[in-house]
Amino acid sequence: MKLRRLSEAGLKGRRVFVRCDLNVPMTEGVIEDDTRMLASLETLNHLLGNGNSLIVASHLGRPRGRVVPELSLKLVGERLSELLERPVRMAFDCVGEEASSLAGTLNPGEVLLLENLRFHEGETKGDEEFARALASLAEVYVNDAFGACHRAHASVSGIPTIIPGYAGLLIDREVAALEQLLHGEGSFTAVLGGAKVSDKIGLVRNLLDKVDNILIGGGMAFTFLKAMGFEIGRSLLEEDRLEEAREVLELAVEKDRQLLLPGDAAAASAPDDPSGMQTCHMDVFPSDRMGVDIGPNTAAVFAKEIRQSDRVFWNGPMGIFEVPEFASGTNAVAQAIAETDGFTLIGGGDSVSAVNKLGLTDRIDHISTGGGASLEYVEGRELPGIAALME
Ligand code: AMP
Repeated sequence: MKLRRLSEAGLKGRRVFVRCDLNVPMTEGVIEDDTRMLASLETLNHLLGNGNSLIVASHLGRPRGRVVPELSLKLVGERLSELLERPVRMAFDCVGEEASSLAGTLNPGEVLLLENLRFHEGETKGDEEFARALASLAEVYVNDAFGACHRAHASVSGIPTIIPGYAGLLIDREVAALEQLLHGEGSFTAVLGGAKVSDKIGLVRNLLDKVDNILIGGGMAFTFLKAMGFEIGRSLLEEDRLEEAREVLELAVEKDRQLLLPGDAAAASAPDDPSGMQTCHMDVFPSDRMGVDIGPNTAAVFAKEIRQSDRVFWNGPMGIFEVPEFASGTNAVAQAIAETDGFTLIGGGDSVSAVNKLGLTDRIDHISTGGGASLEYVEGRELPGIAALME
């Protein structure tokens, strides 16, 4: 099975539907961060440079099938026009007569941006009729929305079953980096953090077949620690996952994988109160405190493992890193990954923002634009958006 790639498609003078991930964070009508838009430019400019006309589509936020004016892509269209240095026309809906007639009159080099795909519930439901309506606007489909590839949505996996579809340059780069991570040589370490063990326990289980070491920090570590018999005070705990955590720990032993959990932690009285924070060994964790970060010994152990690895994947903060006093563990992991000679890949908004804040971005081999999508890829799950672009 081979990915059908835009770079090999030779598209010229065609009317192309381009699914981008322009889901930028917006507050009170201001785009806070246009990283995702910048990541889409290479594909858009490549297509425009070859005399194609573009029908660009994206989702923004979660309008749940209703028109939510605050989630209009209008401002995104204005910014896109600046970035592409050409006019971008806006359709008031992503399907219907107006979109059809605007799409039908596009000249080579012209760009039409459709309104938020998720204003229609057919998008997230993967509705075939809705996919057909979108596909009817263009001759060819290019998907560059890596961050949405783990969703079987109409504009992601539906359209390429109707018109020919290709992977854009961003997806191409993401897949190449993930393949290098998964199939490269040498020891492979996954560093996982974040709040919810329920989100990632399946991942930990599946990773046991793929990696040599799994380092677990963040809130999710405490359910594992409790399952091992440690007292965790008021730290995050998902009681209903204790049994599964126990199973995964046993499985790690059976498969002879190293699964490391914090041996010490920063303990605080509340998730937003650094006063009185102290480092505690997990053997003597106080009953009235909560774990808010991995401790310095754990950070040093994790950093050493990371530096010795040939391949490193990181998703999720080691503590409540939004509070600067609780960010030491996350920063230590970011620093160690930056210093690693091996191949390093980071996914997930929080880990990426930690690396950005520390100015370490250039020292990471690949920073994925899709947190959920890169997790599922590493886990070995088929991504509907990628599967639909296979020959
Ligand atoms: P997730 O969305 O599951 O990746 O979780 C990210 C969130 O986990 C961040 O907002 C962190 O503040 C939070 N987090 C990390 N460590 C802890 C912890 N020890 N206790 C509570 N929340 C945590």
